[in-house]
Amino acid sequence: MVKSKHTREQIFDLLSAIPDPEIPVVSIREMGMLRDVFVTDQGYEIIITPTYTGCPAMGIIEADVKMTLEIAGVKPVKVSLVYDPAWTTDWMSDVAKEKLRKYGIAPPLHSSCNQDVFAHNIIQCPRCHSGDTVLLSRFGSTACKSLYKCNDCKEPFEYFKCHF
Ligand SMILES: [Zn+2]
Repeated sequence: MVKSKHTREQIFDLLSAIPDPEIPVVSIREMGMLRDVFVTDQGYEIIITPTYTGCPAMGIIEADVKMTLEIAGVKPVKVSLVYDPAWTTDWMSDVAKEKLRKYGIAPPLHSSCNQDVFAHNIIQCPRCHSGDTVLLSRFGSTACKSLYKCNDCKEPFEYFKCHF
């Protein structure tokens, strides 16, 4: 039987260093993907909720979690992907939203959104803060983001979509 030596807080601290594979300026913890850590006598279980179902980054995150903990001598580790409740942009910290903006991605406007966001909401340019922006494509570099263009500074930028 394994006697777990690390505390839940230590595991959270270790995993806080893991960046989101798609947006390396924010961590998986800041994004709200790191949901929970269970420490039992049998080992460690890490609960991860993907930002989007089918996000190609999930395999990378799982591997990063396992590698980070292995290096720290934490074992055995089980990574569980939980899809219910679904990830929402509510779980993203304000720090994460600010980091997104600095990175050039407009952070999500709402937590629970709908298609109306494309029709009625003004997505602010993360560079010059102009509200004069236009949607170019609902899908940017990944399904999680939409591609916009700013009519003021003429720069394209990505908007991190809400979950729907
Ligand atoms: Zn702009």
